[in-house]
Amino acid sequence: PFDVLVVGGGPASASAAIYAARKGIRTGIVAERFGGQVNDTAAIENFIGVKRTEGPQFVANLGEHVKDYDIDVMNLQRAKSLERKKDFVEIELENGAVLNSKSVILSTGARWRKVGVPGEDEFRNKGVAYCPHCDGPLFEGKDVAVIGGGNSGVEAAIDLAGIVKHVTVLEFAPELKADSVLQDRLKSLPNVTVLPNAQTTKITGTDNVNGITYVDRGTQTEHHIELAGVFVQIGLLPNTDWLGDAVERNKFGEITIDRHGATNVPGVFAAGDCTDDPNKQIIISMGSGANAALNAFNYLIRNEAP
Ligand code: FAD
Repeated sequence: PFDVLVVGGGPASASAAIYAARKGIRTGIVAERFGGQVNDTAAIENFIGVKRTEGPQFVANLGEHVKDYDIDVMNLQRAKSLERKKDFVEIELENGAVLNSKSVILSTGARWRKVGVPGEDEFRNKGVAYCPHCDGPLFEGKDVAVIGGGNSGVEAAIDLAGIVKHVTVLEFAPELKADSVLQDRLKSLPNVTVLPNAQTTKITGTDNVNGITYVDRGTQTEHHIELAGVFVQIGLLPNTDWLGDAVERNKFGEITIDRHGATNVPGVFAAGDCTDDPNKQIIISMGSGANAALNAFNYLIRNEAP
Protein backbone atom coordinates (compact mmCIF):
# COMPACT_ATOMS: atom_id res chain seq x y z
CA PRO A 1 0.00 0.00 0.00
CA PHE A 2 0.93 3.65 -0.31
CA ASP A 3 1.81 5.73 2.72
CA VAL A 4 0.29 8.83 1.09
CA LEU A 5 -1.98 8.68 -1.93
CA VAL A 6 -2.81 12.05 -3.46
CA VAL A 7 -6.07 12.17 -5.45
CA GLY A 8 -5.91 14.97 -8.02
CA GLY A 9 -3.18 16.44 -10.21
CA GLY A 10 -3.33 20.22 -9.82
CA PRO A 11 -0.97 22.52 -7.89
CA ALA A 12 -2.31 21.34 -4.51
CA SER A 13 -1.59 17.73 -5.45
CA ALA A 14 1.89 18.38 -6.85
CA SER A 15 2.84 20.25 -3.71
CA ALA A 16 1.36 17.60 -1.40
CA ALA A 17 3.10 14.76 -3.25
CA ILE A 18 6.52 16.45 -3.23
CA TYR A 19 6.27 17.30 0.46
CA ALA A 20 5.29 13.69 1.21
CA ALA A 21 7.98 12.14 -1.00
CA ARG A 22 10.65 14.27 0.64
CA LYS A 23 9.90 12.34 3.84
CA GLY A 24 11.00 9.16 2.09
CA ILE A 25 7.57 7.55 2.26
CA ARG A 26 5.66 5.72 -0.50
CA THR A 27 3.77 8.40 -2.38
CA GLY A 28 1.37 8.19 -5.30
CA ILE A 29 -0.70 10.60 -7.39
CA VAL A 30 -3.86 9.58 -9.18
CA ALA A 31 -5.02 12.36 -11.51
CA GLU A 32 -7.74 12.67 -14.08
CA ARG A 33 -5.73 15.34 -15.87
CA PHE A 34 -2.34 16.38 -14.49
CA GLY A 35 -2.04 20.16 -14.12
CA GLY A 36 -5.69 20.81 -13.27
CA GLN A 37 -7.19 24.24 -13.89
CA VAL A 38 -3.78 25.71 -14.61
CA ASN A 39 -3.89 23.94 -18.00
CA ASP A 40 -6.63 26.41 -18.96
CA THR A 41 -4.93 29.51 -17.59
CA ALA A 42 -3.26 32.05 -19.85
CA ALA A 43 -1.01 34.42 -17.93
CA ILE A 44 -0.21 33.89 -14.26
CA GLU A 45 1.05 37.05 -12.61
CA ASN A 46 0.34 36.41 -8.94
CA PHE A 47 2.51 33.41 -8.15
CA ILE A 48 4.88 35.32 -5.93
CA GLY A 49 8.51 35.11 -6.93
CA VAL A 50 7.64 34.40 -10.56
CA LYS A 51 6.70 37.72 -12.12
CA ARG A 52 4.88 36.23 -15.08
CA THR A 53 4.34 32.80 -16.55
CA GLU A 54 1.77 30.94 -18.63
CA GLY A 55 -0.47 28.07 -17.51
CA PRO A 56 0.98 25.31 -19.73
CA GLN A 57 4.55 26.34 -18.80
CA PHE A 58 3.61 26.27 -15.13
CA VAL A 59 2.11 22.77 -15.55
CA ALA A 60 5.28 21.57 -17.30
CA ASN A 61 7.34 22.90 -14.39
CA LEU A 62 5.08 21.10 -11.90
CA GLY A 63 5.51 17.88 -13.87
CA GLU A 64 9.30 18.18 -13.92
CA HIS A 65 9.46 18.92 -10.23
CA VAL A 66 7.27 15.90 -9.41
CA LYS A 67 9.39 13.69 -11.69
CA ASP A 68 12.45 14.57 -9.63
CA TYR A 69 11.04 12.43 -6.81
CA ASP A 70 10.08 8.81 -6.42
CA ILE A 71 6.36 9.47 -6.90
CA ASP A 72 4.09 6.94 -8.63
CA VAL A 73 2.07 9.16 -11.00
CA MET A 74 -1.08 7.57 -12.39
CA ASN A 75 -2.32 10.17 -14.89
CA LEU A 76 -5.62 10.03 -16.80
CA GLN A 77 -7.19 7.99 -14.01
CA ARG A 78 -10.32 9.08 -12.20
CA ALA A 79 -11.12 8.11 -8.63
CA LYS A 80 -14.65 6.75 -8.20
CA SER A 81 -15.03 6.10 -4.48
CA LEU A 82 -13.33 6.28 -1.09
CA GLU A 83 -13.80 3.90 1.80
CA ARG A 84 -12.12 3.94 5.19
CA LYS A 85 -11.14 0.36 6.09
CA LYS A 86 -9.58 -0.71 9.39
CA ASP A 87 -5.90 -0.30 8.47
CA PHE A 88 -6.02 1.79 5.32
CA VAL A 89 -8.10 3.92 3.03
CA GLU A 90 -9.36 2.31 -0.16
CA ILE A 91 -9.66 4.35 -3.36
CA GLU A 92 -11.42 2.71 -6.27
CA LEU A 93 -10.75 4.04 -9.78
CA GLU A 94 -13.15 4.25 -12.72
CA ASN A 95 -11.05 1.60 -14.49
CA GLY A 96 -11.81 -0.86 -11.68
CA ALA A 97 -8.40 -0.77 -10.00
CA VAL A 98 -8.36 -0.48 -6.21
CA LEU A 99 -5.55 1.42 -4.45
CA ASN A 100 -4.83 1.18 -0.74
CA SER A 101 -3.07 3.83 1.27
CA LYS A 102 -2.39 4.51 4.92
CA SER A 103 -3.32 8.14 4.33
CA VAL A 104 -5.02 10.03 1.50
CA ILE A 105 -4.90 13.67 0.42
CA LEU A 106 -7.94 14.75 -1.57
CA SER A 107 -7.12 17.60 -3.95
CA THR A 108 -9.58 17.20 -6.82
CA GLY A 109 -10.07 20.94 -7.30
CA ALA A 110 -13.07 22.75 -8.71
CA ARG A 111 -14.49 24.15 -11.92
CA TRP A 112 -16.25 27.41 -12.70
CA ARG A 113 -19.92 27.16 -13.62
CA LYS A 114 -20.35 28.53 -17.13
CA VAL A 115 -23.20 30.75 -18.40
CA GLY A 116 -23.37 28.66 -21.54
CA VAL A 117 -23.88 31.45 -24.08
CA PRO A 118 -22.23 31.92 -27.49
CA GLY A 119 -18.85 33.62 -27.17
CA GLU A 120 -18.06 32.29 -23.68
CA ASP A 121 -15.71 29.52 -24.83
CA GLU A 122 -14.50 31.38 -27.92
CA PHE A 123 -13.28 34.37 -25.91
CA ARG A 124 -12.04 32.53 -22.83
CA ASN A 125 -8.80 34.28 -21.78
CA LYS A 126 -9.56 36.86 -24.49
CA GLY A 127 -11.84 38.96 -22.33
CA VAL A 128 -13.91 36.23 -20.69
CA ALA A 129 -12.55 35.66 -17.19
CA TYR A 130 -13.56 33.84 -14.04
CA CYS A 131 -11.13 35.10 -11.42
CA PRO A 132 -11.02 38.80 -10.46
CA HIS A 133 -7.90 38.32 -8.30
CA CYS A 134 -6.10 36.84 -11.31
CA ASP A 135 -7.36 38.88 -14.24
CA GLY A 136 -8.76 42.12 -12.76
CA PRO A 137 -5.58 44.14 -13.42
CA LEU A 138 -5.70 43.22 -17.13
CA PHE A 139 -8.77 45.45 -17.46
CA GLU A 140 -7.40 48.56 -15.78
CA GLY A 141 -9.20 51.65 -17.11
CA LYS A 142 -11.63 49.58 -19.21
CA ASP A 143 -15.33 48.71 -19.00
CA VAL A 144 -16.30 45.25 -17.80
CA ALA A 145 -19.39 43.25 -16.86
CA VAL A 146 -19.89 40.78 -14.04
CA ILE A 147 -22.45 38.05 -14.65
CA GLY A 148 -24.02 37.00 -11.35
CA GLY A 149 -25.35 38.99 -8.42
CA GLY A 150 -24.67 36.54 -5.62
CA ASN A 151 -21.94 37.05 -3.04
CA SER A 152 -19.09 36.16 -5.39
CA GLY A 153 -20.46 38.35 -8.20
CA VAL A 154 -20.95 41.37 -5.96
CA GLU A 155 -17.58 40.86 -4.27
CA ALA A 156 -15.99 40.69 -7.72
CA ALA A 157 -17.80 43.88 -8.82
CA ILE A 158 -16.63 45.80 -5.73
CA ASP A 159 -13.09 44.53 -6.25
CA LEU A 160 -13.08 45.37 -9.98
CA ALA A 161 -14.63 48.82 -9.46
CA GLY A 162 -11.38 49.85 -7.79
CA ILE A 163 -9.35 48.91 -10.87
CA VAL A 164 -11.46 49.26 -14.01
CA LYS A 165 -13.36 52.24 -15.42
CA HIS A 166 -16.89 50.89 -15.09
CA VAL A 167 -18.60 47.68 -13.98
CA THR A 168 -22.04 46.47 -15.07
CA VAL A 169 -23.51 43.69 -12.94
CA LEU A 170 -26.02 41.46 -14.74
CA GLU A 171 -28.32 39.46 -12.49
CA PHE A 172 -30.85 37.04 -13.96
CA ALA A 173 -33.28 37.30 -11.01
CA PRO A 174 -35.33 40.42 -10.20
CA GLU A 175 -32.92 41.30 -7.39
CA LEU A 176 -29.35 40.68 -6.25
CA LYS A 177 -28.84 37.71 -3.95
CA ALA A 178 -25.69 38.92 -2.21
CA ASP A 179 -25.60 39.76 1.52
CA SER A 180 -27.08 43.20 2.17
CA VAL A 181 -23.79 44.59 3.53
CA LEU A 182 -22.20 43.80 0.15
CA GLN A 183 -25.14 45.25 -1.77
CA ASP A 184 -24.93 48.49 0.25
CA ARG A 185 -21.23 48.76 -0.46
CA LEU A 186 -21.86 48.10 -4.17
CA LYS A 187 -24.58 50.80 -4.34
CA SER A 188 -22.20 53.34 -2.83
CA LEU A 189 -19.78 53.01 -5.74
CA PRO A 190 -20.05 55.63 -8.51
CA ASN A 191 -18.79 53.44 -11.36
CA VAL A 192 -21.12 50.45 -11.00
CA THR A 193 -24.46 49.81 -12.73
CA VAL A 194 -26.69 46.94 -11.63
CA LEU A 195 -29.04 45.36 -14.17
CA PRO A 196 -31.52 43.02 -12.51
CA ASN A 197 -33.74 40.73 -14.62
CA ALA A 198 -30.99 40.59 -17.22
CA GLN A 199 -30.48 37.37 -19.12
CA THR A 200 -27.12 37.29 -20.87
CA THR A 201 -27.61 35.87 -24.37
CA LYS A 202 -24.27 36.45 -26.06
CA ILE A 203 -20.69 37.61 -25.52
CA THR A 204 -19.53 39.38 -28.66
CA GLY A 205 -16.12 40.17 -30.09
CA THR A 206 -13.70 39.83 -32.95
CA ASP A 207 -10.24 38.88 -31.66
CA ASN A 208 -11.18 39.87 -28.12
CA VAL A 209 -14.44 40.57 -26.31
CA ASN A 210 -16.08 43.83 -27.43
CA GLY A 211 -19.48 43.56 -25.78
CA ILE A 212 -22.30 41.67 -24.16
CA THR A 213 -25.90 41.18 -25.28
CA TYR A 214 -28.71 40.62 -22.80
CA VAL A 215 -32.48 40.44 -22.73
CA ASP A 216 -34.37 42.49 -20.17
CA ARG A 217 -36.69 39.77 -18.85
CA GLY A 218 -39.25 42.36 -17.75
CA THR A 219 -39.75 44.03 -21.12
CA GLN A 220 -38.39 41.21 -23.31
CA THR A 221 -36.19 43.73 -25.13
CA GLU A 222 -32.66 43.01 -26.26
CA HIS A 223 -29.76 45.32 -25.35
CA HIS A 224 -26.07 45.45 -26.16
CA ILE A 225 -23.28 47.00 -24.06
CA GLU A 226 -19.81 47.69 -25.39
CA LEU A 227 -17.07 46.55 -23.03
CA ALA A 228 -13.71 44.79 -22.90
CA GLY A 229 -14.21 42.08 -20.32
CA VAL A 230 -16.81 39.74 -18.85
CA PHE A 231 -16.32 38.08 -15.46
CA VAL A 232 -18.52 35.04 -15.00
CA GLN A 233 -19.37 34.66 -11.31
CA ILE A 234 -22.20 32.16 -11.06
CA GLY A 235 -20.51 29.58 -8.92
CA LEU A 236 -17.46 27.42 -8.41
CA LEU A 237 -18.27 23.72 -8.30
CA PRO A 238 -15.94 21.45 -6.32
CA ASN A 239 -15.07 18.10 -7.96
CA THR A 240 -16.25 16.13 -4.95
CA ASP A 241 -19.50 14.40 -5.99
CA TRP A 242 -17.63 11.11 -6.29
CA LEU A 243 -17.09 11.13 -2.51
CA GLY A 244 -20.79 10.94 -1.64
CA ASP A 245 -21.11 10.71 2.15
CA ALA A 246 -17.67 9.13 2.65
CA VAL A 247 -16.20 12.48 3.76
CA GLU A 248 -17.97 15.47 5.31
CA ARG A 249 -18.75 18.27 2.83
CA ASN A 250 -20.48 21.63 3.31
CA LYS A 251 -23.64 22.79 1.51
CA PHE A 252 -21.57 23.85 -1.51
CA GLY A 253 -20.03 20.39 -1.74
CA GLU A 254 -16.65 21.59 -0.48
CA ILE A 255 -14.71 19.20 1.76
CA THR A 256 -14.68 20.49 5.34
CA ILE A 257 -11.16 20.67 6.77
CA ASP A 258 -9.54 21.92 9.95
CA ARG A 259 -6.33 23.93 10.06
CA HIS A 260 -4.32 20.72 9.77
CA GLY A 261 -6.04 19.98 6.45
CA ALA A 262 -7.73 17.03 8.16
CA THR A 263 -11.23 15.89 7.17
CA ASN A 264 -13.66 14.15 9.53
CA VAL A 265 -12.22 10.76 8.45
CA PRO A 266 -8.99 9.66 10.21
CA GLY A 267 -6.06 9.57 7.78
CA VAL A 268 -7.95 11.48 5.10
CA PHE A 269 -6.74 15.02 4.44
CA ALA A 270 -7.78 17.54 1.78
CA ALA A 271 -6.20 20.58 0.13
CA GLY A 272 -6.84 23.28 -2.47
CA ASP A 273 -9.96 24.33 -4.32
CA CYS A 274 -12.00 21.24 -3.36
CA THR A 275 -11.99 22.34 0.30
CA ASP A 276 -13.95 24.96 2.24
CA ASP A 277 -10.96 27.31 2.22
CA PRO A 278 -12.63 30.47 0.85
CA ASN A 279 -9.77 31.72 -1.32
CA LYS A 280 -9.07 29.69 -4.44
CA GLN A 281 -5.63 30.49 -5.82
CA ILE A 282 -2.57 28.58 -7.03
CA ILE A 283 -0.33 29.83 -4.24
CA ILE A 284 -2.95 29.04 -1.61
CA SER A 285 -3.67 25.56 -2.96
CA MET A 286 0.05 24.78 -2.94
CA GLY A 287 0.37 25.98 0.65
CA SER A 288 -2.56 23.85 1.70
CA GLY A 289 -1.14 20.83 -0.18
CA ALA A 290 2.13 21.18 1.72
CA ASN A 291 0.26 21.61 4.99
CA ALA A 292 -1.87 18.50 4.37
CA ALA A 293 1.21 16.42 3.48
CA LEU A 294 3.14 17.43 6.60
CA ASN A 295 0.12 16.64 8.75
CA ALA A 296 -0.44 13.32 6.95
CA PHE A 297 3.18 12.46 7.77
CA ASN A 298 2.59 13.43 11.37
CA TYR A 299 -0.51 11.21 11.39
CA LEU A 300 1.50 8.28 10.00
CA ILE A 301 4.27 8.47 12.58
CA ARG A 302 1.71 8.56 15.38
CA ASN A 303 -0.49 5.75 14.08
CA GLU A 304 1.98 3.17 12.87
CA ALA A 305 3.61 0.37 14.78
CA PRO A 306 7.33 1.18 15.19
P1 FAD B 1 -7.24 21.99 -9.68
O1 FAD B 1 -6.26 22.84 -10.37
O2 FAD B 1 -8.68 22.14 -10.01
O3 FAD B 1 -6.81 20.47 -9.93
C1 FAD B 1 -7.66 19.41 -9.61
C2 FAD B 1 -7.05 18.12 -10.12
O4 FAD B 1 -7.84 17.00 -9.69
C3 FAD B 1 -6.99 18.00 -11.63
O5 FAD B 1 -5.78 17.36 -11.98
C4 FAD B 1 -8.18 17.10 -11.97
O6 FAD B 1 -8.03 16.41 -13.19
C5 FAD B 1 -8.14 16.15 -10.79
N1 FAD B 1 -9.39 15.44 -10.48
C6 FAD B 1 -10.65 15.92 -10.35
N2 FAD B 1 -11.50 14.93 -10.02
C7 FAD B 1 -10.76 13.80 -9.93
C8 FAD B 1 -11.05 12.44 -9.60
N3 FAD B 1 -12.30 12.03 -9.29
N4 FAD B 1 -10.03 11.53 -9.63
C9 FAD B 1 -8.77 11.90 -9.94
N5 FAD B 1 -8.43 13.18 -10.23
C10 FAD B 1 -9.42 14.11 -10.22
N6 FAD B 1 -5.04 31.12 -9.74
C11 FAD B 1 -4.01 31.93 -9.51
O7 FAD B 1 -3.43 31.90 -8.43
N7 FAD B 1 -3.57 32.81 -10.49
C12 FAD B 1 -4.14 32.87 -11.73
O8 FAD B 1 -3.73 33.66 -12.59
C13 FAD B 1 -5.25 32.00 -12.00
N8 FAD B 1 -5.90 32.04 -13.18
C14 FAD B 1 -6.89 31.15 -13.43
C15 FAD B 1 -7.47 31.16 -14.69
C16 FAD B 1 -8.45 30.24 -15.01
C17 FAD B 1 -9.05 30.24 -16.40
C18 FAD B 1 -8.88 29.29 -14.02
C19 FAD B 1 -9.94 28.25 -14.36
C20 FAD B 1 -8.33 29.31 -12.75
C21 FAD B 1 -7.33 30.25 -12.44
N9 FAD B 1 -6.74 30.28 -11.17
C22 FAD B 1 -5.67 31.11 -10.95
C23 FAD B 1 -7.18 29.41 -10.07
C24 FAD B 1 -6.23 28.22 -9.92
O9 FAD B 1 -6.07 27.59 -11.18
C25 FAD B 1 -6.75 27.25 -8.87
O10 FAD B 1 -6.92 27.91 -7.64
C26 FAD B 1 -5.80 26.08 -8.66
O11 FAD B 1 -5.56 25.40 -9.88
C27 FAD B 1 -6.37 25.10 -7.66
O12 FAD B 1 -5.52 24.00 -7.57
P2 FAD B 1 -6.04 22.59 -7.06
O13 FAD B 1 -4.86 21.68 -7.14
O14 FAD B 1 -6.72 22.74 -5.77
O15 FAD B 1 -7.18 22.14 -8.09
